[in-house]
Amino acid sequence: MTLSIETRLTTELEEIAAAGLTRRRRVLASPCGRIAAVDGREMLNFASNDYLGLAGNAEIAQAMADGALHWGAGSGASHLVSGHLAPHEQIEKDIAAFVGFPRALTFSTGYLANLAIVPTLAGRGAAVFADKLNHASLIDAVQLAKAQGADSQRYAHNDMAALERLLAASDAKTKVIVSDAVFSMDGDLAPLPQLLALAERFDAWLVIDDAHGFGVLGAQGRGSLSHFNLPAAKRILLMGTLGKAAGVGGAFVAGSEIAIEYLLQRARSYIFTTAAPAPIACALSKSLNIIEQGEALRANLFARIAQLRDGLAGLRWQLLPSPTAIQPLIVGDNEAALALARALWERGLWVPAIRPPTVPKGTARLRISVSAAHTAADISCLIDALRAEAATLAG
Ligand SMILES: *Cc1c(COP(=O)(O)O)cnc(C)c1O
Repeated sequence: MTLSIETRLTTELEEIAAAGLTRRRRVLASPCGRIAAVDGREMLNFASNDYLGLAGNAEIAQAMADGALHWGAGSGASHLVSGHLAPHEQIEKDIAAFVGFPRALTFSTGYLANLAIVPTLAGRGAAVFADKLNHASLIDAVQLAKAQGADSQRYAHNDMAALERLLAASDAKTKVIVSDAVFSMDGDLAPLPQLLALAERFDAWLVIDDAHGFGVLGAQGRGSLSHFNLPAAKRILLMGTLGKAAGVGGAFVAGSEIAIEYLLQRARSYIFTTAAPAPIACALSKSLNIIEQGEALRANLFARIAQLRDGLAGLRWQLLPSPTAIQPLIVGDNEAALALARALWERGLWVPAIRPPTVPKGTARLRISVSAAHTAADISCLIDALRAEAATLAG
């Protein structure tokens, strides 16, 4: 029997179902990789963020297993109490050196890292300036800053003139600009040189979320700042996630000695949570090595991206102009996007449809995620399937 306190929930669940927006999880019977075993079928996987194909990497798994045998499975406490083990300390140093900042802190997830940065920098009297297409975790981080009395403004996607106007009109003593480096549903880059120039001119912090650039872009996969040849300026806080290209899990925030020390002392989502298991840090050390020496992986990834873009040119659905592993194919209508994803699924291809409210109305899309693990034949298979579906619709 339904409890009376459950009535509102039941009603909302029925509304979600009526709108065709109920979400279901698919259970994988295989590790994350180019092939995913689902419901007894082998699907070609274009749905993960495993851009370098490292999630199922045997050396990384071995490092994690060795780490677990040596350090145990659990860290036992938060970092500031007694949960900061030697592998945690080492991976912070290695990541900081890799991205070229004086210091870094690690977190269990990117979501927690973003919740640490924004409200900790932007307290009462501060103003936050955020791109409209920022990731949900940054949006929530800005909400937390607002709950502490910060002001917040959103500017149109990548609109530097709009951001400049907002900064010029603000008399907040602390200003914080917040942007994804690679936008997660569009795959395009933020204009980081212009963002940094504005941050300098208006004496603002610049918070960059490089979830999709770390490991993929820049020299040796050092990320989006490296892609643009930007320095590790003191006013930048760089967040990177470690569960996407790095293939493991967790996240880091890198910045100046003072900014990172301040987060360590003040960020509630750093302080009041148990440190991630040390074997994760051990796995990340191996992953960082592979990323650093991963030129062949990145060359393959970018060759596959180019192959996909060439192969889909002139199709009835257009790819957004993305230079990254995220290749969104705009379908427009929600039902049409779902139908296309279903048709691909029937052909053994797993490509997720993304609909509003995750993306703006009328821009429902397939989010094709390319990986270094994909072969040229895999990409051809996807191109052929999309062309065949387009032909069916053309009658
Ligand atoms: C995935 C993602 C996050 C969250 O990282 P998790 O480690 O998955 O919590 C934050 N920002 C962006 C842009 C992301 O794509």
